Amino acid sequence: MTAVVAAVDVGGTRMKAALVDREGREVVTLTRPTPAALDVPGALVRAVAETVAALREAAADLSGHVGPEDAVGRADPTAPEDAVGDTPEVVAAGVVVPGIVDDVRGVAVWASNLGWRDLPVTAPLSELLGMPVALGHDVRAGLRAEVAWGAAAGSRNVLFIPLGTGIAGALMLDGHVVAADGWAGEIGHVVVEPEGLPCPCGQRGCLETVASAAAVARAYAARTAGRGGAPLDAEAVAGLVRAGDADAAAVWDHAVTALARSLVMMTTATGVDHILVGGGLAQSGETLLAPLREAVHASLTFQREPRIERARLGERAGCLGAACLAWDVA
Ligand SMILES: [Zn+2]
Repeated sequence: MTAVVAAVDVGGTRMKAALVDREGREVVTLTRPTPAALDVPGALVRAVAETVAALREAAADLSGHVGPEDAVGRADPTAPEDAVGDTPEVVAAGVVVPGIVDDVRGVAVWASNLGWRDLPVTAPLSELLGMPVALGHDVRAGLRAEVAWGAAAGSRNVLFIPLGTGIAGALMLDGHVVAADGWAGEIGHVVVEPEGLPCPCGQRGCLETVASAAAVARAYAARTAGRGGAPLDAEAVAGLVRAGDADAAAVWDHAVTALARSLVMMTTATGVDHILVGGGLAQSGETLLAPLREAVHASLTFQREPRIERARLGERAGCLGAACLAWDVA
């Protein structure tokens, strides 16, 4: 029987889950909407337990019935047939959530878009599932997965910075992912423009109000307002940058400049020599990375220059990171 762990990434809108073997292969995957009202005591633990049960069912019969809202698949076509043919044994579970997470106490401390405060996860979920459970932060765990199975293999001093709806960050220094009781890595809320736009966190001009995928889309919409065009996402703005559109280029430069300044600050303060850019904005590839490398290079004097690359695991990073945490406690 193949030993696997159950991995669940609880996001603002979707829960991504998988059964993952020792080599990081997703034997079964499942995506379902994140239920409402997860701030009610017990709701998060119940939602995760139900997801783990659904993963087990899906593993027992991949062609069997699943809920209409579930998307189940066999994610990795390179996984050996026997990993699918027998029913995998789930030996531990890993859960990752956004926001402030106390991995040591196993408590989801705070998440702005999910509304919870101080939810105990590890102890009640472990009791419910009858197996060891680990809780972690989605981006810190994603960095663990990039180190184990992705673009950061062999690196010891890494910054992982997904640029999506918001911006979070995770740091590995001297081979250790830094958590600081859950408070490390909030690079998206470092103020880069004190007179800038208000941020949901209460400050003005946070990096994520300038350089997240959502911010780029908003800035382009604001700049071209009144011209009657349909709203574009960041990927479409990147396409216009490549096509030589002046408005898109101005918005893009603004974001790249702010991002480069933040990366130089992080490089100087922490000594990272490898930066993995992820999230929606990174899908533009070299449209983002080439000017970003140039701007960072131009700002450095004595510092060790970091290698700046795209993260490899994409939107699976959090789920695979949850698997890394689960294997730690299995
Ligand atoms: Zn902020």
